[in-house]
Amino acid sequence: MEKIGFIGLGNMGYPMAKNLERAGFHLSVYNRTPSKSAGFEVTTTVCTTIAELVHHSDVIFTMLTDDRAVKEVYEAILQLELVGKLFVDMSTISREASVAISHALSVKGASFLDAPVAGSTVPAAEGTLIIMVGGQQPDFQRALPYLKTMGKTIKHLGEQGKGLAAKIAINYFLATIYQGLAEMVLFSDKLGIDRETMLDIVNGSASGSGATRVKTPMLLTNRFEPAFSLDLMLKDLRLAKDAGADFPIGDTLLSTFSAASKAGYGADDVMGILQYLNREWSK
Ligand code: NAP
Repeated sequence: MEKIGFIGLGNMGYPMAKNLERAGFHLSVYNRTPSKSAGFEVTTTVCTTIAELVHHSDVIFTMLTDDRAVKEVYEAILQLELVGKLFVDMSTISREASVAISHALSVKGASFLDAPVAGSTVPAAEGTLIIMVGGQQPDFQRALPYLKTMGKTIKHLGEQGKGLAAKIAINYFLATIYQGLAEMVLFSDKLGIDRETMLDIVNGSASGSGATRVKTPMLLTNRFEPAFSLDLMLKDLRLAKDAGADFPIGDTLLSTFSAASKAGYGADDVMGILQYLNREWSK
C-alpha cells in the first residue's frame, strides 16, 4: 500500500485529510501552525517538518492558500529526494505557478497533478467534493483511489493546468451568485419583504441552488464565520482576470470584492460581501 501525505490542514485540508484517514490509508499530515494538526487518530503520523512528511510519503497532497503559499511549500519540497513520488496540489492557484512547479518536480524525477476542488467545508467533510484534475493519465490513475475518498465527481480534464482552468471558471460564476444574492437580499429588505420568506421563495425557485441554500443561514443570522473567506474569492477573481475573464460582471465583482476586503471584511465568509454592500449602497 502506498504511503500518503497531506500538507495544509486549513478549513478544507483538515476534513479532506480526515477522509483519507477514515479510508484506512497509511497517512502522514503536516501543517505550518502545529495546533491545527490536533485530532488525528494514533494511526496517522503528525509530522513537524515538510521534509519529514515527504520522507514518509509516496503520494503527497497539498491544500494551501494561494500562489505564494504553494511556491513556498514546494521550494522546501524541491530541496529533497523526490524520485518516484507523486504530488497532487488541490489549492486554487494560477496555472502558471502550477505548471512551473510541475516542471521543477519532473526534473527531480517526481510527478504532479493540479486537482482543485469545487464545494466548501461541508462537501469536504462529507467526501463529496467535485475534483477537477490536470496532468498525465497514469498519474491521474495513481491518485484516483485517494481522490475518491475526498470527492464524488472526479474529472480528468487534460494536460497540466486544465483542472485549474475549470476551477477558475466555476469560481467566477460562484462570485456572481454571491454578489447577486447579497444584492437581492438587500433589495427585498428595502421593499419590506421578510428575509426568511424571501429566501424560502428563492430557494424553492429556479434561481435557488446549492450555493444559495448553503449561505441562507448566514443571511438569516447576519453571522459570517468563514467557510470560504472573502479574501480567497478575491484571489480567485484576480486569477480569473489574469486568465482572460474580460467581461463586464468580472470587473464589477473585482472592484466590489477588493473594496470589501480593504474595508476589513476579507477574513469573513465570502457571503459577508453583504455587509459591505449594505454599508456602501443601502443608504
Ligand atoms: P485556509 O483555511 O486559510 O487554509 C490555508 C492553509 O494553507 C493552512 O493550512 C495554512 O497553514 C496553509 N498555509 C498558508 N500559507 C502557508 C505557507 N507559506 N507555508 C505553509 N503553509 C501555509 O484555506 P482553505 O479555505 O482551506 O482553502 C485552501 C485552498 O482551497 C485555497 O486555495 C482556496 O481558494 C481553495 N478552496 C477553498 C474552499 C473553501 O470553501 N474554503 C473551497 C474550494 C477551494 P496555517 O494553518 O499555518 O496558516
